[in-house]
Amino acid sequence: MHSLTRNGAGYRTHLMTSAQCAGFERCLHKHGHFHRIERQVYTDPADPRRCYYLTYLPKDPARLEAFVKNEMLKSRERAEAEGSGYIWVADLDSGTPREWEVLTLTGSVYRVREDLTSCTCPHFVNRCAPAMILCKHILAFALNLGTFYTSEDRPLYQHTTTHAPALAGT
Ligand SMILES: [Zn+2]
Repeated sequence: MHSLTRNGAGYRTHLMTSAQCAGFERCLHKHGHFHRIERQVYTDPADPRRCYYLTYLPKDPARLEAFVKNEMLKSRERAEAEGSGYIWVADLDSGTPREWEVLTLTGSVYRVREDLTSCTCPHFVNRCAPAMILCKHILAFALNLGTFYTSEDRPLYQHTTTHAPALAGT
């Protein structure tokens, strides 16, 4: 199935036994259209014997590009669905480019750099960054979705402009 792997946009198999995994791996190598073929371990499978899966990437650049485009669209859809509920707090000590903490709908807090180059959420770190895709938090920031604070009690503004946030006085 199409997936964001640790190595970038590609495919992953369903969970398999070690022997099944080895067989599938041989087929993929023989097939020749894929690379970065790697065995991964799923830590909490329903069936402990089937705890392995493979990730692999298409060699065809056009296919890869289509994957990346599709994943960006998915991120954007998630950002648009959730982003207005995010609360953003500027870390005024973070230097340049500034970092913002985002309180998400699930209560998790991540840090997003305002130059849109990074987010500390696991999805970005493990999946999006290797594929050079932006996560929903970075996209929500870029789209000005949510409420932005420079301190705990003063909302900077609330998704009223279409430009990336700029701090008052800077
Ligand atoms: Zn993120």
